[in-house]
Amino acid sequence: MSAVAVLMASNNAHKRRELGEIFALAGLREVVLITPDELGVRCEPEESGTSYLANALIKAQALAKAYRDSGGAQPVWILADDSGLEVDALGGQPGVHSARYYQSAPGGDGCAALLAAMAGVPDAQRSARFRCVLVLISPEGDVHHFEGVCEGQIAHERRGTGGFGFDPVFVVADGRTMAELSAAEKHAISHRGIAGRQAAAFLRQVMR
Ligand code: IMP
Repeated sequence: MSAVAVLMASNNAHKRRELGEIFALAGLREVVLITPDELGVRCEPEESGTSYLANALIKAQALAKAYRDSGGAQPVWILADDSGLEVDALGGQPGVHSARYYQSAPGGDGCAALLAAMAGVPDAQRSARFRCVLVLISPEGDVHHFEGVCEGQIAHERRGTGGFGFDPVFVVADGRTMAELSAAEKHAISHRGIAGRQAAAFLRQVMR
């Protein structure tokens, strides 16, 4: 297979790095992920959907349009990631609003805001999960989607320096936080790793 450009409907450098690593670890080395910034198109649609799938579709379709409007004529694949953290003690919040929750926290410190919101909540009620929905739109316009979930607990204090976002306060099965895992360890169990491997298997099959 020769190199295939997949336009990624996000300028989030963390997501791009992680998905690139997940695809490479899955043996899909021919795919090159290109962000709107790299393509020179502006694409920041309002994520007004009430589900991850709806928001991923909004992002993917907005990028498909921005690409066409910019004169892009080559048929391309589009990939969008919408993800979030669901905390049971907070009724499943921040969920689809995770990016906004994180960014609008005082000092832009979403981990501190979450730890404060969870102060006094006993261990047995600190369950949470990361969820990721990936949408792929084929050059012909066919829509495919993949979902991954990673169960865990909200920590009592932040630990670790890896990953991004809520990783330092999300405890996985072995007691470490996501931010204490190596990148490969995170991808092996993460919501994005699970969804990304499904997307990679699908792409490998259709691009053969
Ligand atoms: P969005 O999908 O761009 O709307 O943003 C999802 C938000 O959920 C991110 O900005 C992070 O705050 C959080 N999030 C999603 N995936 C992860 C992850 O792998 N680690 C930590 N936080 C994440």
